[in-house]
Amino acid sequence: MFQSFDEVNDPTLGRERVARLREWLTRNDLDGFIVPRSDEHQGEYVAARSERLKWLTGFSGSAGVAIVLVGRAVVFVDGRYTLQVRDQTDPQVFAYESLIDNPPPKWIKANLGKGARLGFDPWLHTIGDVKALREAAEKTGAELVPVDANPIDQLWADQPAAPLEPVEIHPIEYAGELAKDKLSRLAAAIAKEGATHTVLTDPSSLAWAFNIRGADVPHTPLALGFAVLAAEGPHLLFMDKRKLPMKTEAYLTQLADLRPPSALEAELVALAKSGARIALDPVLAADRLRTLVTENGGAVVTAPDPARIPRATKNGAEIAGARAAHRRDGAAVVKLLCWLDAQAPDTLDEIAVVTKLEEKRRITGDETQMPLRDVSFATIAGAGPNGAIMHYRVSSATNRPLRSGELFLLDSGGQYQDGTTDITRTVPIGQPTEEMRTRYTLVLKGMIEISMLRFPPGVRGSDLDAVARLALWKAGLDYAHGTGHGVGSYLSVHEGPQRLAKTGTEKLLEGMILSNEPGYYKPGSYGIRLENLILVTPAEALPDGDIAMHGFETLTLAPFDKRMLKTDLLNRDEVHWLDEYHARVMREIGPMVGGEVLAWLEKATAPLPHDDKG
Ligand code: ZN
Ligand code: ZN
Repeated sequence: MFQSFDEVNDPTLGRERVARLREWLTRNDLDGFIVPRSDEHQGEYVAARSERLKWLTGFSGSAGVAIVLVGRAVVFVDGRYTLQVRDQTDPQVFAYESLIDNPPPKWIKANLGKGARLGFDPWLHTIGDVKALREAAEKTGAELVPVDANPIDQLWADQPAAPLEPVEIHPIEYAGELAKDKLSRLAAAIAKEGATHTVLTDPSSLAWAFNIRGADVPHTPLALGFAVLAAEGPHLLFMDKRKLPMKTEAYLTQLADLRPPSALEAELVALAKSGARIALDPVLAADRLRTLVTENGGAVVTAPDPARIPRATKNGAEIAGARAAHRRDGAAVVKLLCWLDAQAPDTLDEIAVVTKLEEKRRITGDETQMPLRDVSFATIAGAGPNGAIMHYRVSSATNRPLRSGELFLLDSGGQYQDGTTDITRTVPIGQPTEEMRTRYTLVLKGMIEISMLRFPPGVRGSDLDAVARLALWKAGLDYAHGTGHGVGSYLSVHEGPQRLAKTGTEKLLEGMILSNEPGYYKPGSYGIRLENLILVTPAEALPDGDIAMHGFETLTLAPFDKRMLKTDLLNRDEVHWLDEYHARVMREIGPMVGGEVLAWLEKATAPLPHDDKG
C-alpha cells in the first residue's frame, strides 16, 4: 500500500521537546523561535527529516506554523485542521490560532514586546514570508533573527537522513521536449528578466526542466535539489550523487555541472561577488538565497519561477500521455464502482474501499504495462458525515462503515509515468433522499456547465469559478473551496499557477490541465463532490462566431451515478452532454474491461430515459 491508516502520534512528547527548545533559546540569547511546516522547497509534501513541526508539536497536517516563546507556545492552523490539531497536540503546552484570521505576522505584532528577539531558519521561509514577519516585528520594536543552524535538527536525536531515492530519466516519449531545449528556453527567459542567473528551488521545476523524476517525498515523484541556471554559460545542478544511478548521472552531466547540495551557498556567494544579477521568485525562494546574494555584492531580480508557465502548458506528448493515463485510471475506477455496487450495505468501511481501489489501480496498471507508481494523494473516502469534511483523510480512528441511506464520497488519483490523475465520484449506499438527489444534480450541473464552456483567450480562472456555482447559488447553496486546481504531468496533483477559483489570477492557456470539482457539503450529514480533469484546448470554430475561442476537453472517464440524478433539473444541453460523455466512457473504457464489469458499465452509461429530455 502507498497509504497508511495508522498515524503514530503521541501528543505528550511535545512538553519535553518544547522545554528543550526553550533551553536552546536561553543559550542562544533568543526569546522565541518560529517553526514552519515547510522545507527548503516550499512544496505540499516534505521528506520525513523535514517534519520538524510534527516532531515538535505532534501536529501532522499539511500546513501550519508554531511559535515557541520562553513563556508560551502557539500552533497556527487553517480551518481544515482546527479539530485535528487539538487531538494531536498537548493543550497544556500549546495555544491555537487561525493561520488565516490571525497569521504569524499579525500575532507577532500583538504579542511580541519591544526588544524581543525571535529566531527563524532562513532556509524554511520564503522571501515574501520573511518580509511580512520582519515588518510585523519591527512595528513592535522586536527583532527577527536568522539562525545559522536549525535548533530542531540539533535537538532531534533520531531525525531521519535526507532522502536518497534513485533519480530516473523521464523518457522523451512522455516529456515531449528535450531537457536541453527546455533549458535554452529558460535561459532566454532569465535574460529577458534582465538577470544573469536564476535559482530553481521548486523540485517540480527541476523535474520538468531536466526531465527527471525521483521519489524523495510521498505521492509526488520529486527529486529534491536546486539548480542555478545561467542566461549564458553552464548551469549548475545541486543534487546528492548518491541519488544518481550511473545512467542518470551521465545524462545530467551533459546538461549541467553537478555539485553536492552543500556547495550551493558557496557557489551563490561566488556568483554574487562576481556581480551576478540573480532572479528569485519571492513566493518560492528561501530568504537565505536572497541574503546570500545581496550580502555579497550581487543583485536580486524579483521574478516568478521561469519554469512554471512552460510546465503548466502541456505539449503534445504530455497531452497524449494524460489521455492514456486517464483511460487506464478510468478503467480502474469503473472496476471499483462495479465492485462497490455488488457489496451489500453495512458490510464495508472506508478503509476497505481505499484498499480495494488501490488494488484495482495496481492491477490495471500491471495489465497494461504502465504500473501505478504511487497514488497522487492520500485517498479521501468519506462515508456519511465524513464526506462533509472537505479534506477528510481516513484513519483507523475515524474509519466509518458505509451505511444504507448514506452517501459515499471517493476522491482519489494515481501517478503513472505518462500522467497524473485526480477523480471524485459520489455514490449512494442504498436509497438516497430527495434532498441528496437534488443537490447532487445541482453540483453536476455546475460541473457540466464548466465542461461545455467556450471562452475567449485571456480569460482567467477567477472569471470562470462562478459558472460552476450558479445552479447551487440559485438554490441558496454553495461550497467553501475553489472549483479547480492545476495538475502536473507525472508531477504534483496540485500544480500552479492556473486555478479555477476566486484567487485564480492566471490566464488559462492552451495545454493547461485543471480539475473541475464543484461540491456541496452538509455538515454532520453528507458531502457531494464530482471531479473530472479538463484540458484547455482551442474550441472548434462556429460559423457565425467572430473570434477564436478556447474550450475544455474532459480527460477523466468514469460514469456519474444515475440513481442520484433528477433529470428534470438538467437542461437539454446538459442532458446531451451527459449522454455523450457516458457514450464516450463506454467507447473508451468498455474495451478495457470484461465480464460483469462490462455489463455493469453498459448499464451505467446507457442514455438517460428519452421522456425526460424535454
Ligand atoms: Zn480530487
Ligand atoms: Zn482535485
